[in-house]
Amino acid sequence: MVYGYYYKTIKKGSTLHNDICPGCGSKGTIRLSVICRVNHYVYIPFWPSNKQTVLECSVCGGKYKSEALPHIQPKAEALQKETPYRIYHFVGLFLVLAIACLFTYMIISDNKTQIEKLHNEVEHLDEGLVINYQLPDKQKTSMYVDSVRGDSVWVRENTLSTTGKVMKINQAENYSTHPSTYLKEELHKLVDEDRIINIYITAAYVRKQIEQENESIQD
Ligand SMILES: [Zn+2]
Repeated sequence: MVYGYYYKTIKKGSTLHNDICPGCGSKGTIRLSVICRVNHYVYIPFWPSNKQTVLECSVCGGKYKSEALPHIQPKAEALQKETPYRIYHFVGLFLVLAIACLFTYMIISDNKTQIEKLHNEVEHLDEGLVINYQLPDKQKTSMYVDSVRGDSVWVRENTLSTTGKVMKINQAENYSTHPSTYLKEELHKLVDEDRIINIYITAAYVRKQIEQENESIQD
């Protein structure tokens, strides 16, 4: 049983010395109590409901509706009104809320780290890197970085775009032969707009890095 409920006494009133139990007829053995229904999932109380006053008898152990004794109705109503639900009967709701907050926090901080990483990659762009990004119409495409001079980045745009995996259109023959220029500032703006998907390294980039390293060794 995943979901269920039980009734719980949340307030015990004083004994009604002059009244008679509607069940067993004993005198002075009943008291007014407030009970409520506790709704639970796997026995973790989630939220209470159906607050009501009942008559409890200490002799027969019975619980009776307070309407059985009409003259104590005002007292019963007052007792019910002044008795709040117990906070620990909401524990499941609080737990779910706390977990939801934690997940939201984790997603936000993960996203923030990702954005910081992309800003850093934009600052260190180099020939041979490919930027996968989203067009204003939500289609995905890419651009190949030809060269970087100062704040200017020369790229060749992919002539195709896709709603599927951008990897599938990342082929050399799809890239325009005409270079276009971006300022790094514009690329940072794309990062902030959540439009840069990732920046990845191509074989050409790796080759160039190795060549540069060899040159520096020879120097
Ligand atoms: Zn009784």
